[in-house]
Amino acid sequence: MTQVHFRHDTELPPGSTGLKVIVVGLGIGGIAAAVECHRRGHTVIGFEKSTGKTAVGDSLGIGFNAALVFDQWGGGSVAQALNRDRGMVEEMVIYDENGDLVAKSDVAGFDPGNGYLMWRYHAARAIEDHAQTLGLDLHYGVRVEEYWENDHQAGIIVDGNRISADCVIVADGVNSRGRSAIKGDTVKLQDTGNVAFRGGFESGSLQNDPTTQWLFEGVEEQDRLIEYIGKNVLVMIGTGRNGKDIDDPTETERYEAADVDEALRQISHWPVYDKIATVIGKMPERTCYKHRLFISDPINEWVSPKGRMIMVGDAAHPMVPTLGQGASQAVEDSAVVAICLQLCAGDVSMGLKAAQAIRAPRATLIQRAGVELLTAVHANGSEDRTTFTRPYWIYLHDCQRHAYQEYSKVVQSLKTGVPYSPTNIPAGATWNVGHEAELGPKIQAFRAAIQAGGDTYTLLP
Ligand SMILES: Cc1cc2nc3c(=O)[nH]c(=O)nc-3n(C[C@H](O)[C@H](O)[C@H](O)COP(=O)(O)OP(=O)(O)OC[C@H]3O[C@@H](n4cnc5c(N)ncnc54)[C@H](O)[C@@H]3O)c2cc1C
Repeated sequence: MTQVHFRHDTELPPGSTGLKVIVVGLGIGGIAAAVECHRRGHTVIGFEKSTGKTAVGDSLGIGFNAALVFDQWGGGSVAQALNRDRGMVEEMVIYDENGDLVAKSDVAGFDPGNGYLMWRYHAARAIEDHAQTLGLDLHYGVRVEEYWENDHQAGIIVDGNRISADCVIVADGVNSRGRSAIKGDTVKLQDTGNVAFRGGFESGSLQNDPTTQWLFEGVEEQDRLIEYIGKNVLVMIGTGRNGKDIDDPTETERYEAADVDEALRQISHWPVYDKIATVIGKMPERTCYKHRLFISDPINEWVSPKGRMIMVGDAAHPMVPTLGQGASQAVEDSAVVAICLQLCAGDVSMGLKAAQAIRAPRATLIQRAGVELLTAVHANGSEDRTTFTRPYWIYLHDCQRHAYQEYSKVVQSLKTGVPYSPTNIPAGATWNVGHEAELGPKIQAFRAAIQAGGDTYTLLP
Protein backbone atom coordinates (compact mmCIF):
# COMPACT_ATOMS: atom_id res chain seq x y z
CA MET A 1 0.00 0.00 0.00
CA THR A 2 1.63 3.26 -1.09
CA GLN A 3 0.49 6.52 0.42
CA VAL A 4 0.94 9.87 -1.27
CA HIS A 5 1.57 12.72 1.15
CA PHE A 6 0.17 15.88 -0.28
CA ARG A 7 1.95 19.15 0.00
CA HIS A 8 0.37 22.32 -1.23
CA ASP A 9 1.47 23.68 -4.55
CA THR A 10 4.31 26.14 -4.13
CA GLU A 11 4.40 28.82 -6.79
CA LEU A 12 7.20 31.36 -6.43
CA PRO A 13 7.56 34.93 -7.75
CA PRO A 14 9.20 35.07 -11.21
CA GLY A 15 12.98 35.03 -11.06
CA SER A 16 13.08 34.46 -7.31
CA THR A 17 15.26 31.32 -7.29
CA GLY A 18 17.98 33.12 -9.22
CA LEU A 19 18.25 30.16 -11.62
CA LYS A 20 18.25 30.74 -15.37
CA VAL A 21 16.96 27.86 -17.47
CA ILE A 22 17.19 27.41 -21.25
CA VAL A 23 14.45 25.26 -22.81
CA VAL A 24 15.11 23.86 -26.29
CA GLY A 25 12.05 22.74 -28.27
CA LEU A 26 8.68 24.32 -27.55
CA GLY A 27 6.30 21.45 -28.28
CA ILE A 28 3.90 20.34 -25.56
CA GLY A 29 6.77 19.22 -23.29
CA GLY A 30 8.92 22.31 -23.86
CA ILE A 31 6.10 24.79 -23.25
CA ALA A 32 5.21 22.86 -20.09
CA ALA A 33 8.85 23.14 -18.98
CA ALA A 34 8.95 26.87 -19.71
CA VAL A 35 5.71 27.67 -17.86
CA GLU A 36 6.44 25.36 -14.93
CA CYS A 37 9.97 26.75 -14.50
CA HIS A 38 8.50 30.26 -14.51
CA ARG A 39 5.92 29.22 -11.88
CA ARG A 40 8.65 27.76 -9.67
CA GLY A 41 10.62 31.01 -9.72
CA HIS A 42 13.22 30.34 -12.43
CA THR A 43 14.02 32.70 -15.30
CA VAL A 44 13.28 31.03 -18.63
CA ILE A 45 14.54 31.49 -22.16
CA GLY A 46 13.12 29.15 -24.81
CA PHE A 47 13.98 28.26 -28.42
CA GLU A 48 11.89 26.53 -31.06
CA LYS A 49 12.91 25.75 -34.61
CA SER A 50 9.47 26.13 -36.19
CA THR A 51 8.34 29.60 -37.00
CA GLY A 52 4.88 29.37 -35.56
CA LYS A 53 1.88 27.33 -34.70
CA THR A 54 1.48 24.23 -36.78
CA ALA A 55 -1.65 22.29 -37.66
CA VAL A 56 0.26 19.11 -38.47
CA GLY A 57 -1.11 16.18 -36.53
CA ASP A 58 -4.50 15.09 -35.35
CA SER A 59 -5.83 13.83 -32.07
CA LEU A 60 -3.74 14.21 -28.94
CA GLY A 61 -4.59 12.79 -25.54
CA ILE A 62 -3.91 14.70 -22.36
CA GLY A 63 -4.66 12.34 -19.49
CA PHE A 64 -5.98 13.30 -16.06
CA ASN A 65 -2.44 12.90 -14.73
CA ALA A 66 -1.21 15.74 -16.97
CA ALA A 67 -4.41 17.80 -16.88
CA LEU A 68 -3.71 18.29 -13.15
CA VAL A 69 -0.68 20.37 -14.18
CA PHE A 70 -2.59 22.50 -16.71
CA ASP A 71 -5.44 23.00 -14.19
CA GLN A 72 -3.16 25.26 -12.18
CA TRP A 73 -2.18 27.56 -15.03
CA GLY A 74 -3.64 31.04 -15.29
CA GLY A 75 -6.13 30.49 -12.47
CA GLY A 76 -8.04 27.96 -14.59
CA SER A 77 -7.98 29.96 -17.84
CA VAL A 78 -5.85 27.38 -19.64
CA ALA A 79 -8.21 24.55 -18.69
CA GLN A 80 -11.04 26.73 -20.02
CA ALA A 81 -9.21 27.30 -23.31
CA LEU A 82 -8.48 23.58 -23.67
CA ASN A 83 -12.11 22.75 -22.91
CA ARG A 84 -13.36 25.23 -25.50
CA ASP A 85 -11.59 23.39 -28.33
CA ARG A 86 -11.70 19.82 -27.07
CA GLY A 87 -13.56 16.82 -28.46
CA MET A 88 -16.61 16.16 -26.27
CA VAL A 89 -15.96 12.44 -26.28
CA GLU A 90 -17.44 10.06 -23.70
CA GLU A 91 -16.88 6.71 -25.37
CA MET A 92 -14.77 4.94 -27.94
CA VAL A 93 -16.54 2.46 -30.24
CA ILE A 94 -14.42 -0.36 -31.63
CA TYR A 95 -15.21 -2.28 -34.82
CA ASP A 96 -13.39 -4.99 -36.74
CA GLU A 97 -12.45 -4.81 -40.40
CA ASN A 98 -15.90 -6.11 -41.39
CA GLY A 99 -17.46 -3.14 -39.66
CA ASP A 100 -18.90 -5.39 -36.92
CA LEU A 101 -19.07 -3.96 -33.46
CA VAL A 102 -16.41 -5.41 -31.16
CA ALA A 103 -16.76 -3.29 -28.04
CA LYS A 104 -17.51 0.07 -26.54
CA SER A 105 -15.15 1.58 -24.08
CA ASP A 106 -15.42 4.62 -21.87
CA VAL A 107 -12.62 7.17 -22.17
CA ALA A 108 -12.23 7.91 -18.45
CA GLY A 109 -9.04 9.81 -17.83
CA PHE A 110 -9.48 11.76 -21.09
CA ASP A 111 -13.17 12.60 -20.60
CA PRO A 112 -14.61 16.11 -20.18
CA GLY A 113 -13.75 17.48 -16.76
CA ASN A 114 -10.81 15.13 -16.28
CA GLY A 115 -8.58 15.12 -19.34
CA TYR A 116 -8.65 16.01 -23.02
CA LEU A 117 -8.86 14.38 -26.42
CA MET A 118 -8.33 17.12 -28.96
CA TRP A 119 -6.57 18.21 -32.08
CA ARG A 120 -2.91 18.74 -31.20
CA TYR A 121 -3.02 22.07 -32.96
CA HIS A 122 -5.60 23.44 -30.53
CA ALA A 123 -3.87 21.98 -27.48
CA ALA A 124 -0.56 23.52 -28.54
CA ARG A 125 -2.24 26.87 -29.20
CA ALA A 126 -3.89 27.00 -25.80
CA ILE A 127 -0.68 26.41 -23.89
CA GLU A 128 1.51 28.54 -26.17
CA ASP A 129 -0.93 31.44 -25.82
CA HIS A 130 -0.69 31.13 -22.05
CA ALA A 131 3.11 31.17 -22.20
CA GLN A 132 2.89 34.38 -24.24
CA THR A 133 0.64 36.04 -21.66
CA LEU A 134 3.29 35.35 -19.01
CA GLY A 135 5.75 37.33 -21.12
CA LEU A 136 8.22 34.45 -21.32
CA ASP A 137 11.30 35.01 -23.44
CA LEU A 138 10.51 32.51 -26.20
CA HIS A 139 12.22 32.56 -29.60
CA TYR A 140 10.65 30.87 -32.62
CA GLY A 141 12.40 30.02 -35.87
CA VAL A 142 15.66 29.15 -34.07
CA ARG A 143 17.12 25.71 -34.68
CA VAL A 144 19.47 24.72 -31.85
CA GLU A 145 22.29 22.41 -32.88
CA GLU A 146 25.15 23.15 -30.48
CA TYR A 147 25.22 22.68 -26.73
CA TRP A 148 27.94 23.15 -24.13
CA GLU A 149 28.39 22.78 -20.38
CA ASN A 150 31.03 23.19 -17.71
CA ASP A 151 30.96 22.71 -13.94
CA HIS A 152 29.12 25.99 -13.39
CA GLN A 153 26.94 26.64 -16.41
CA ALA A 154 25.40 25.17 -19.54
CA GLY A 155 24.06 26.65 -22.71
CA ILE A 156 23.66 26.65 -26.45
CA ILE A 157 25.33 28.33 -29.40
CA VAL A 158 22.99 29.97 -31.90
CA ASP A 159 24.32 31.85 -34.94
CA GLY A 160 27.72 31.95 -33.30
CA ASN A 161 26.31 33.47 -30.09
CA ARG A 162 26.97 31.63 -26.85
CA ILE A 163 23.89 31.75 -24.62
CA SER A 164 24.47 30.75 -21.00
CA ALA A 165 22.24 29.54 -18.19
CA ASP A 166 22.41 27.46 -15.05
CA CYS A 167 20.99 24.53 -16.95
CA VAL A 168 19.39 23.42 -20.21
CA ILE A 169 16.18 21.43 -20.54
CA VAL A 170 16.26 19.55 -23.83
CA ALA A 171 12.69 19.06 -25.13
CA ASP A 172 13.35 18.76 -28.84
CA GLY A 173 11.38 15.62 -29.54
CA VAL A 174 12.14 12.18 -30.86
CA ASN A 175 14.86 13.24 -33.30
CA SER A 176 16.57 15.20 -30.55
CA ARG A 177 19.93 16.88 -31.23
CA GLY A 178 20.25 17.67 -27.56
CA ARG A 179 20.13 13.97 -26.71
CA SER A 180 23.41 13.46 -28.57
CA ALA A 181 24.93 16.38 -26.68
CA ILE A 182 23.98 14.65 -23.43
CA LYS A 183 24.57 11.00 -24.30
CA GLY A 184 26.90 11.07 -27.31
CA ASP A 185 25.85 8.55 -29.92
CA THR A 186 24.84 5.88 -27.40
CA VAL A 187 21.11 6.09 -28.16
CA LYS A 188 20.02 4.48 -31.40
CA LEU A 189 16.47 5.10 -32.55
CA GLN A 190 14.70 2.03 -33.85
CA ASP A 191 12.15 2.29 -36.62
CA THR A 192 9.17 0.20 -35.48
CA GLY A 193 8.22 -0.19 -39.13
CA ASN A 194 4.86 1.32 -38.23
CA VAL A 195 3.58 4.42 -39.91
CA ALA A 196 0.69 6.59 -38.77
CA PHE A 197 -1.13 8.49 -41.49
CA ARG A 198 -2.45 11.52 -39.67
CA GLY A 199 -4.58 14.49 -40.51
CA GLY A 200 -6.96 17.00 -39.02
CA PHE A 201 -9.21 19.27 -41.06
CA GLU A 202 -12.44 21.26 -40.92
CA SER A 203 -15.39 19.00 -41.45
CA GLY A 204 -17.17 21.75 -43.46
CA SER A 205 -18.99 20.26 -46.44
CA LEU A 206 -18.72 16.70 -45.11
CA GLN A 207 -21.46 17.50 -42.63
CA ASN A 208 -23.93 17.90 -45.51
CA ASP A 209 -22.61 15.04 -47.61
CA PRO A 210 -24.99 12.04 -47.47
CA THR A 211 -22.08 9.56 -47.76
CA THR A 212 -20.39 10.88 -44.64
CA GLN A 213 -23.49 11.48 -42.51
CA TRP A 214 -22.76 8.32 -40.53
CA LEU A 215 -19.82 10.03 -38.88
CA PHE A 216 -21.84 12.96 -37.60
CA GLU A 217 -24.65 11.05 -35.95
CA GLY A 218 -25.26 12.55 -32.53
CA VAL A 219 -22.28 14.91 -32.60
CA GLU A 220 -24.38 17.78 -31.21
CA GLU A 221 -24.51 15.74 -28.00
CA GLN A 222 -21.20 13.97 -28.09
CA ASP A 223 -18.22 13.82 -30.43
CA ARG A 224 -17.36 10.50 -32.05
CA LEU A 225 -14.28 8.38 -31.46
CA ILE A 226 -14.23 5.27 -33.60
CA GLU A 227 -11.60 2.58 -34.08
CA TYR A 228 -11.52 -0.06 -36.79
CA ILE A 229 -9.00 -2.77 -36.06
CA GLY A 230 -7.69 -5.42 -38.39
CA LYS A 231 -4.46 -7.36 -38.49
CA ASN A 232 -1.54 -4.93 -38.79
CA VAL A 233 -3.74 -1.87 -39.35
CA LEU A 234 -5.74 0.29 -37.00
CA VAL A 235 -7.89 3.18 -38.20
CA MET A 236 -9.05 5.83 -35.79
CA ILE A 237 -11.57 8.47 -36.84
CA GLY A 238 -12.94 11.10 -34.54
CA THR A 239 -14.80 14.37 -34.56
CA GLY A 240 -14.17 17.42 -32.50
CA ARG A 241 -13.95 21.11 -32.84
CA ASN A 242 -12.12 21.77 -36.06
CA GLY A 243 -9.68 24.46 -36.95
CA LYS A 244 -7.52 26.26 -39.43
CA ASP A 245 -5.40 25.30 -42.43
CA ILE A 246 -1.97 23.78 -42.13
CA ASP A 247 0.57 26.55 -42.01
CA ASP A 248 3.89 24.73 -41.97
CA PRO A 249 3.57 21.33 -43.55
CA THR A 250 7.19 20.23 -43.61
CA GLU A 251 7.94 21.36 -40.12
CA THR A 252 9.40 18.24 -38.59
CA GLU A 253 11.46 15.45 -40.06
CA ARG A 254 9.08 12.88 -38.66
CA TYR A 255 6.14 14.25 -40.63
CA GLU A 256 6.21 13.97 -44.39
CA ALA A 257 3.32 14.90 -46.64
CA ALA A 258 1.44 11.79 -47.71
CA ASP A 259 -0.97 10.89 -50.43
CA VAL A 260 -4.42 10.00 -49.04
CA ASP A 261 -4.60 7.15 -51.55
CA GLU A 262 -1.51 5.64 -49.98
CA ALA A 263 -3.29 5.66 -46.61
CA LEU A 264 -6.40 4.10 -48.11
CA ARG A 265 -4.43 1.34 -49.84
CA GLN A 266 -3.58 -0.05 -46.40
CA ILE A 267 -7.23 -1.01 -45.87
CA SER A 268 -8.43 -1.58 -49.43
CA HIS A 269 -9.04 -5.28 -48.65
CA TRP A 270 -11.28 -4.55 -45.67
CA PRO A 271 -15.02 -5.24 -46.12
CA VAL A 272 -15.75 -1.95 -44.34
CA TYR A 273 -13.46 -0.06 -46.73
CA ASP A 274 -16.13 1.82 -48.69
CA LYS A 275 -17.62 3.34 -45.56
CA ILE A 276 -14.31 4.52 -44.13
CA ALA A 277 -13.09 5.75 -47.51
CA THR A 278 -16.01 8.18 -47.75
CA VAL A 279 -14.40 10.19 -44.97
CA ILE A 280 -10.68 9.59 -45.40
CA GLY A 281 -10.92 10.02 -49.18
CA LYS A 282 -12.26 13.54 -48.64
CA MET A 283 -9.33 14.83 -46.66
CA PRO A 284 -8.35 18.14 -48.23
CA GLU A 285 -5.05 18.22 -50.06
CA ARG A 286 -1.99 18.71 -47.86
CA THR A 287 -3.68 17.56 -44.67
CA CYS A 288 -2.51 13.95 -44.71
CA TYR A 289 0.87 13.30 -43.14
CA LYS A 290 2.95 10.22 -42.69
CA HIS A 291 4.38 9.85 -39.22
CA ARG A 292 6.99 7.11 -38.89
CA LEU A 293 7.00 5.66 -35.39
CA PHE A 294 10.41 5.40 -33.76
CA ILE A 295 11.30 4.04 -30.36
CA SER A 296 14.49 3.51 -28.42
CA ASP A 297 15.62 1.12 -25.76
CA PRO A 298 14.75 2.58 -22.35
CA ILE A 299 17.06 5.50 -21.58
CA ASN A 300 17.66 5.56 -17.85
CA GLU A 301 20.11 8.47 -17.71
CA TRP A 302 18.73 11.77 -18.86
CA VAL A 303 21.33 14.08 -17.33
CA SER A 304 24.57 15.21 -18.99
CA PRO A 305 28.04 14.32 -17.64
CA LYS A 306 28.48 17.62 -15.79
CA GLY A 307 24.92 17.58 -14.52
CA ARG A 308 23.72 20.77 -16.20
CA MET A 309 21.53 19.43 -19.00
CA ILE A 310 18.51 17.14 -18.86
CA MET A 311 16.26 15.78 -21.56
CA VAL A 312 12.51 15.41 -21.19
CA GLY A 313 9.55 14.19 -23.24
CA ASP A 314 10.01 12.34 -26.51
CA ALA A 315 13.72 13.17 -26.51
CA ALA A 316 14.11 11.03 -23.37
CA HIS A 317 11.46 8.38 -24.08
CA PRO A 318 10.22 8.12 -27.66
CA MET A 319 6.74 6.63 -27.42
CA VAL A 320 4.31 4.96 -29.76
CA PRO A 321 0.80 6.38 -29.49
CA THR A 322 -1.01 3.24 -28.21
CA LEU A 323 -1.40 4.37 -24.59
CA GLY A 324 -2.04 8.02 -25.41
CA GLN A 325 0.57 9.11 -22.87
CA GLY A 326 3.25 10.77 -25.01
CA ALA A 327 2.18 14.31 -24.24
CA SER A 328 1.18 13.52 -20.65
CA GLN A 329 4.55 12.02 -19.78
CA ALA A 330 6.34 14.99 -21.35
CA VAL A 331 4.24 17.31 -19.14
CA GLU A 332 4.95 15.23 -16.03
CA ASP A 333 8.71 15.30 -16.80
CA SER A 334 8.72 19.06 -17.19
CA ALA A 335 6.67 19.76 -14.07
CA VAL A 336 8.96 17.55 -11.97
CA VAL A 337 12.18 19.06 -13.33
CA ALA A 338 10.90 22.55 -12.45
CA ILE A 339 10.11 21.46 -8.87
CA CYS A 340 13.45 19.69 -8.37
CA LEU A 341 15.24 22.86 -9.52
CA GLN A 342 13.14 24.81 -7.01
CA LEU A 343 14.07 22.45 -4.18
CA CYS A 344 17.74 21.99 -5.07
CA ALA A 345 18.93 25.15 -3.27
CA GLY A 346 21.29 26.02 -6.10
CA ASP A 347 22.74 22.50 -6.47
CA VAL A 348 21.51 22.21 -10.06
CA SER A 349 23.24 18.93 -10.77
CA MET A 350 21.59 17.33 -7.73
CA GLY A 351 18.21 18.76 -8.74
CA LEU A 352 18.42 17.37 -12.26
CA LYS A 353 19.63 13.96 -11.06
CA ALA A 354 16.74 13.84 -8.59
CA ALA A 355 14.30 14.64 -11.40
CA GLN A 356 15.80 11.83 -13.45
CA ALA A 357 15.47 9.38 -10.54
CA ILE A 358 11.82 10.31 -10.04
CA ARG A 359 10.85 10.35 -13.70
CA ALA A 360 12.90 7.82 -15.68
CA PRO A 361 11.50 4.58 -14.18
CA ARG A 362 7.90 5.73 -14.74
CA ALA A 363 8.31 7.17 -18.21
CA THR A 364 10.37 4.24 -19.51
CA LEU A 365 7.88 1.70 -18.12
CA ILE A 366 5.06 3.47 -19.96
CA GLN A 367 7.24 3.65 -23.07
CA ARG A 368 7.80 -0.12 -22.91
CA ALA A 369 4.15 -0.86 -22.21
CA GLY A 370 3.08 1.13 -25.28
CA VAL A 371 5.34 -0.91 -27.54
CA GLU A 372 4.11 -4.22 -26.09
CA LEU A 373 0.52 -3.14 -26.62
CA LEU A 374 1.23 -2.14 -30.22
CA THR A 375 2.80 -5.53 -30.90
CA ALA A 376 -0.17 -7.36 -29.35
CA VAL A 377 -2.74 -5.35 -31.31
CA HIS A 378 -0.96 -5.93 -34.58
CA ALA A 379 -0.60 -9.64 -33.93
CA ASN A 380 -4.18 -10.27 -32.87
CA GLY A 381 -6.24 -7.52 -34.46
CA SER A 382 -9.31 -6.45 -32.56
CA GLU A 383 -9.16 -9.37 -30.09
CA ASP A 384 -6.57 -7.57 -28.03
CA ARG A 385 -8.15 -4.16 -28.21
CA THR A 386 -11.60 -4.54 -26.75
CA THR A 387 -10.85 -1.79 -24.28
CA PHE A 388 -8.78 1.32 -24.22
CA THR A 389 -5.91 0.37 -21.91
CA ARG A 390 -5.59 2.74 -18.97
CA PRO A 391 -3.93 1.30 -15.87
CA TYR A 392 -4.75 3.06 -12.58
CA TRP A 393 -1.15 3.75 -11.71
CA ILE A 394 -0.69 5.92 -14.78
CA TYR A 395 -3.74 8.11 -14.19
CA LEU A 396 -4.07 8.24 -10.40
CA HIS A 397 -0.90 10.19 -10.07
CA ASP A 398 -0.21 13.77 -9.15
CA CYS A 399 3.37 14.18 -10.32
CA GLN A 400 3.83 17.54 -8.59
CA ARG A 401 2.74 16.50 -5.12
CA HIS A 402 4.70 13.30 -5.60
CA ALA A 403 7.85 15.27 -6.48
CA TYR A 404 7.56 17.46 -3.38
CA GLN A 405 7.06 14.34 -1.29
CA GLU A 406 9.91 12.32 -2.75
CA TYR A 407 12.60 14.93 -3.34
CA SER A 408 14.45 14.62 -0.03
CA LYS A 409 14.32 10.80 -0.12
CA VAL A 410 15.77 10.80 -3.61
CA VAL A 411 18.54 13.22 -2.67
CA GLN A 412 19.37 11.06 0.33
CA SER A 413 19.64 8.03 -1.95
CA LEU A 414 21.85 9.92 -4.42
CA LYS A 415 24.15 10.99 -1.60
CA THR A 416 24.37 7.63 0.16
CA GLY A 417 24.18 5.31 -2.83
CA VAL A 418 21.32 3.39 -1.19
CA PRO A 419 18.99 2.62 -4.11
CA TYR A 420 15.75 4.59 -4.31
CA SER A 421 12.58 2.58 -4.93
CA PRO A 422 10.20 4.51 -7.17
CA THR A 423 6.71 5.00 -5.75
CA ASN A 424 5.06 6.17 -8.97
CA ILE A 425 5.03 2.76 -10.68
CA PRO A 426 3.82 -0.67 -9.58
CA ALA A 427 6.14 -2.76 -7.45
CA GLY A 428 8.55 -4.73 -9.60
CA ALA A 429 8.03 -2.29 -12.48
CA THR A 430 5.51 -4.60 -14.10
CA TRP A 431 2.32 -3.71 -15.85
CA ASN A 432 -0.57 -5.57 -17.42
CA VAL A 433 -2.61 -4.89 -20.53
CA GLY A 434 -6.26 -4.19 -19.84
CA HIS A 435 -8.40 -1.43 -18.53
CA GLU A 436 -9.08 -1.06 -14.85
CA ALA A 437 -12.80 -0.64 -15.00
CA GLU A 438 -13.35 1.69 -12.06
CA LEU A 439 -11.02 4.38 -13.34
CA GLY A 440 -13.75 7.04 -13.62
CA PRO A 441 -14.97 6.80 -10.00
CA LYS A 442 -11.42 6.46 -8.75
CA ILE A 443 -10.43 9.66 -10.53
CA GLN A 444 -13.33 11.45 -8.83
CA ALA A 445 -12.20 10.18 -5.43
CA PHE A 446 -8.60 11.13 -6.15
CA ARG A 447 -9.63 14.64 -7.23
CA ALA A 448 -11.84 15.04 -4.17
CA ALA A 449 -8.92 14.07 -1.92
CA ILE A 450 -6.71 16.67 -3.60
CA GLN A 451 -9.37 19.37 -3.35
CA ALA A 452 -10.03 18.58 0.29
CA GLY A 453 -6.36 19.25 0.91
CA GLY A 454 -6.04 15.83 2.50
CA ASP A 455 -2.67 14.56 3.54
CA THR A 456 -2.60 11.19 1.91
CA TYR A 457 -4.29 9.11 -0.72
CA THR A 458 -3.72 5.49 -1.58
CA LEU A 459 -1.94 5.55 -4.89
CA LEU A 460 -1.21 1.96 -5.74
CA PRO A 461 -2.98 -1.10 -4.42
C1 LIG B 1 4.21 18.87 -35.44
C2 LIG B 1 3.87 17.73 -34.52
C3 LIG B 1 2.62 17.09 -34.64
C4 LIG B 1 2.29 16.04 -33.79
N1 LIG B 1 1.06 15.44 -33.91
C5 LIG B 1 0.70 14.49 -33.03
C6 LIG B 1 -0.60 13.89 -33.06
O1 LIG B 1 -1.40 14.21 -33.91
N2 LIG B 1 -0.93 12.98 -32.12
C7 LIG B 1 -0.05 12.59 -31.16
O2 LIG B 1 -0.39 11.76 -30.31
N3 LIG B 1 1.20 13.12 -31.11
C8 LIG B 1 1.59 14.05 -32.01
N4 LIG B 1 2.84 14.60 -31.94
C9 LIG B 1 3.76 14.11 -30.91
C10 LIG B 1 3.40 14.63 -29.56
O3 LIG B 1 3.18 16.02 -29.58
C11 LIG B 1 4.56 14.29 -28.64
O4 LIG B 1 4.74 12.89 -28.65
C12 LIG B 1 4.32 14.65 -27.20
O5 LIG B 1 3.56 15.82 -27.07
C13 LIG B 1 5.65 14.84 -26.47
O6 LIG B 1 6.07 16.12 -26.78
P1 LIG B 1 7.56 16.68 -26.80
O7 LIG B 1 7.41 18.11 -26.42
O8 LIG B 1 8.48 15.83 -26.04
O9 LIG B 1 7.99 16.55 -28.33
P2 LIG B 1 7.39 17.25 -29.61
O10 LIG B 1 5.94 17.47 -29.49
O11 LIG B 1 7.89 16.48 -30.78
O12 LIG B 1 8.08 18.70 -29.61
C14 LIG B 1 9.44 18.90 -29.90
C15 LIG B 1 9.61 20.33 -30.36
O13 LIG B 1 11.00 20.60 -30.51
C16 LIG B 1 11.19 21.32 -31.70
N5 LIG B 1 12.55 21.07 -32.15
C17 LIG B 1 13.06 19.93 -32.66
N6 LIG B 1 14.37 20.07 -32.94
C18 LIG B 1 14.70 21.32 -32.59
C19 LIG B 1 15.91 22.06 -32.65
N7 LIG B 1 17.05 21.52 -33.12
N8 LIG B 1 15.92 23.33 -32.20
C20 LIG B 1 14.77 23.90 -31.72
N9 LIG B 1 13.59 23.24 -31.67
C21 LIG B 1 13.55 21.97 -32.08
C22 LIG B 1 10.13 20.77 -32.64
O14 LIG B 1 9.84 21.65 -33.69
C23 LIG B 1 8.95 20.59 -31.70
O15 LIG B 1 8.16 21.73 -31.61
C24 LIG B 1 3.22 15.62 -32.77
C25 LIG B 1 4.46 16.29 -32.65
C26 LIG B 1 4.79 17.33 -33.51
C27 LIG B 1 6.11 18.04 -33.34
